[in-house]
Amino acid sequence: MSADQPERTPESYRDLPASGSDRFRTLLKRAVGRRCPQCGSKGIFKHFIELKPRCPRCNYRFDREEGYFLGGYALNVFFVGLIPLLLLVLAFIYTDYSWVTLEIIFIPLAILLPIVLFPYTRTFWMLIDLTVDPTEHSEKQLRSGQMNKPQ
Ligand SMILES: [Zn+2]
Repeated sequence: MSADQPERTPESYRDLPASGSDRFRTLLKRAVGRRCPQCGSKGIFKHFIELKPRCPRCNYRFDREEGYFLGGYALNVFFVGLIPLLLLVLAFIYTDYSWVTLEIIFIPLAILLPIVLFPYTRTFWMLIDLTVDPTEHSEKQLRSGQMNKPQ
């Protein structure tokens, strides 16, 4: 960086469109890619499962309020329950596999699927939240619970 350019703040890397279908498409791409919803940066997970508290590039705090990721857990429970059940019913109806074979296939699937989908339920929860509530609340407002009070 040259000396005459002003130094960029971490927040200046946030380039999420303010509204509309561009915003949703951007959020969807970033959720699938396990990237920061605000700047698209990779590396927001410490390892496969654990999300860092803040984006290392734009400093966006991922849990916007206390208990923020409860919705992500709900997504995980919903899809982890729904996907194996639908596949099991389809396999039971359309294949000749014995019940024991279906158990051998679907019990490991029911164990592994929540682990595999866990990071995606977090990124998809951020997609849903930032689509429904696009307001950029300051962290101070969020932490003090003042975001719904009149200014
Ligand atoms: Zn970021």
